[in-house]
Amino acid sequence: PFRLSERALSLKPSATVAVTSRALELRRAGVDVISMSVGEPDFDTPPHIKAAATRAIEAGKTKYTSVNGLPELREAISAKFERENGLLYAPDAVTVTSGGKQALFNAFFALLNPGDEVLIPAPYWVSYPEMVALTGAVPVPVPTTPESGFQLDPAELEARITPRTRMIVLNSPGNPTGAVFPPEVLAAVAEVAQRHNLVIVTDEMYEHLVYDAEQVSIGRYAPEHTLTVNGASKAYAMTGWRIGYAGGPQGVIAAMNALQSQSTSNASSVSQYAALAALTQHEETASFIEEARRAYRERRDRIVAGLNALGLPTPTPQGAFYVMADTDRLHPDELEAARRLLDEARVAVVPGTDFAAPGQVRLSYATSLENIEEVLRRIRAVLGA
Ligand code: PLP
Repeated sequence: PFRLSERALSLKPSATVAVTSRALELRRAGVDVISMSVGEPDFDTPPHIKAAATRAIEAGKTKYTSVNGLPELREAISAKFERENGLLYAPDAVTVTSGGKQALFNAFFALLNPGDEVLIPAPYWVSYPEMVALTGAVPVPVPTTPESGFQLDPAELEARITPRTRMIVLNSPGNPTGAVFPPEVLAAVAEVAQRHNLVIVTDEMYEHLVYDAEQVSIGRYAPEHTLTVNGASKAYAMTGWRIGYAGGPQGVIAAMNALQSQSTSNASSVSQYAALAALTQHEETASFIEEARRAYRERRDRIVAGLNALGLPTPTPQGAFYVMADTDRLHPDELEAARRLLDEARVAVVPGTDFAAPGQVRLSYATSLENIEEVLRRIRAVLGA
């Protein structure tokens, strides 16, 4: 009797599953695999945030909250948008979700109809096209190249607009590329969106992880066209707490709240109090972010230099904590290259197959410098063999 739905069946099986399960299998067999595939900070959640959660538990703040989040948290998010991003979203134009992922999911389901086209710069985070396709809309990749550091060309974007285009999804700093789109590119994309009456959904989860670039919110250029998604996961090392949020036009936020009210309801109350501390105890939070950024930058410089020296061309990303390495020297097919890295170097990476990055693999440097040095040693041994 269990016939799977067309929607469930339409989810694309991940090409990277094979590599991931092989890594788990090796680990279980006692092989010391170094994982460069994780998408989360290796730092612990800062103590002032954990303390706020403990206090919330002890004070019995463990019940439902309003679906769209605690009023004081929405006020803190509204203030954060203004202070850090120059965006004016009233607390009622803000919603709190179970992770950035749910904010994106709700936004796509609130805004897209079957057949609508959605422009997504590629390489992209795999969840964008999958979520968009689940709504019945059509993801349309806009290619970028390693040679340009995966910079988006607004003319390339505009060339793919058709009468069915409804939305542009931006992610800067980006996963998997680490690219940060400069203000002039964002202004040009905003102008295209205004001229063609398109919605911009911007995912700014990695906004604090920028190294030699300026991170600007595109909502400053096209406030009437932009829905801004962010969250606590990457900025404050809070991936497990599941707090995301979005700011946008009130009508859209209301539709997202309605979707959420019939699915997950409020994000975890305890996690909301933790996020409130992250957004209001500015000094502690800023010093954590500064320290994390300094560590990531040092790791980035080491891994980029090391991979390039090994003949695996790797552009220097300006943000997030990922690099994209060209693995042609290991194997022309990135799935095979990832398999070699795993089997011969005992290093787990993510092949670019699912994010439209053929010939490349993604390595996360959210790991210690010692691990990075060891990874480079292991790859050198494989290439030298
Ligand atoms: N957006 C991007 C670009 C991400 O890389 C991730 C996590 O990997 C998310 C959103 C999801 O964040 P969360 O864990 O808060 O759902």
